[in-house]
Amino acid sequence: MLRKNSGLLLHTSPAPQIRAGLDRGPVRSDWVAWDLFPQPQTAITSLKPACTLGKWINSAGVCSPIAEPRICGPPISDCTVTTGSPGMRSGVTPPAAEACIRLAEAGESLVSRAALRAWGVAAAALSVTPRRGRSRQLSALLWPQFPAQDPAMAMAVSQKFSQLLSSLWHVGQKPLQPEPVFTVDRAEVPPLFWKPYIYAGYRPLHQTWCFYFRTLFQQHNEAVNVWTHLLAALALLLRLVILVGSVDFREDPHALPLFIIVLASFTYLSFSALAHLLQAKSEFWHYSFFFLDYVGVAVYQFGSALAHFYYAIEPSWHAQVQAIFLPMAAFLAWLSCAGSCYNKYSQKPGLLGRTCQEVPSALAYALDISPVVHRIIVSPLPAEDDPALLYHKCQVVFFLLAAAFFSTVMPESWFPGSCHIFGQGHQVFHVFLVLCTLAQLEAVTLDYQARKPIYEALHARCPHNFSGLFLLTVGSSILTALLLSQLVRRKLHQKTK
Ligand SMILES: [Zn+2]
Repeated sequence: MLRKNSGLLLHTSPAPQIRAGLDRGPVRSDWVAWDLFPQPQTAITSLKPACTLGKWINSAGVCSPIAEPRICGPPISDCTVTTGSPGMRSGVTPPAAEACIRLAEAGESLVSRAALRAWGVAAAALSVTPRRGRSRQLSALLWPQFPAQDPAMAMAVSQKFSQLLSSLWHVGQKPLQPEPVFTVDRAEVPPLFWKPYIYAGYRPLHQTWCFYFRTLFQQHNEAVNVWTHLLAALALLLRLVILVGSVDFREDPHALPLFIIVLASFTYLSFSALAHLLQAKSEFWHYSFFFLDYVGVAVYQFGSALAHFYYAIEPSWHAQVQAIFLPMAAFLAWLSCAGSCYNKYSQKPGLLGRTCQEVPSALAYALDISPVVHRIIVSPLPAEDDPALLYHKCQVVFFLLAAAFFSTVMPESWFPGSCHIFGQGHQVFHVFLVLCTLAQLEAVTLDYQARKPIYEALHARCPHNFSGLFLLTVGSSILTALLLSQLVRRKLHQKTK
């Protein structure tokens, strides 16, 4: 018969005692805590054959789900990096004890005396739920070292704790709301989620969607990435409201490209914020949300190309590229989406993987920005006569800075372990990309207002249906992302077989 044992507090090196306890039959544990000294691997390997582990609590008090392959695999040795001091060798650390108490308060404790006996000296269990205000006191009580080598004494200590906690249960007033653990160390998430030089601040997998939305207001290593693009998306909405006051989007056919670039910018910013917020849900959703992010980037690339081609272009460059510019921009936007998705899917490290993502994106940018660069080169007007040009120059500089931070792991490589929350290169990339987008929108809005005579003449007869190409880019990118996410599903399914 399976003995249900929903909480275990382990200390010291429990292997022999646990084995003795397991001889009496399998035990299921929803969570387990140990102080990581001296050999957590031994403890877990001993537990594994007869014990289903739901969560574990490390010495820093961080609670997280245990992934089955990691129970006895090599990465478990990473757990020993968690904080603890030599003085804690035979006791459960106060943070771990407090985390156990929180679980107990959430109703996950209640361990029977029989289970206690089965586990002998190696396990002391909480048998009642303590109340608010008692945690610190309890942890102080739990902290004195358990007598590891004397079963009778350990039993007595365990029972004493039970009685003590039981009395505290009656003394307390209101149950303490369990506080979810929002971040875990790198060793506690699969390598897919690892970021170079970032060792902490990861969110645990397999939580509810609500949990990940709640992390919007918590500190973790994706928080800045979410907020940079979320705030920029809100700023764009505000910009659109202001534009609606001065631009007649319904009646003016020449205003449609302006609307498309604002919409495309909002799309990539909101998709990116969503991806960074929700990708920690699982491996499947990690892939899928970043595929969505790449769809947003493709949409933005085509929107940029269209706005530059429509408003910013000089007639001489228009004459040269008009036949191929928009179809080419649509194709390269899709190609960079497909390349980025494939790079993510294949997880190929090094040059080959990056080539799939960065070469199509670089080609797309070279084409999309060509009307602006051409105009900067040939413009005879001084800066004060063409204020849009200043914004165009800014958007180019911001984009080049963004690209530099995207393709390197600076500055976190200079300060390993110090950029868990702030200072990651990807965050700087986000900031420069937002600045690029804002400068670009100002530039094309000024062009829309000031260059009407030029673009009206150029686009009186448009050789291509740009709305159709825009929808084609959106549709083909979404289909590609969906296809790749199905391949991911199959890959993960095969991995778990
Ligand atoms: Zn990002």
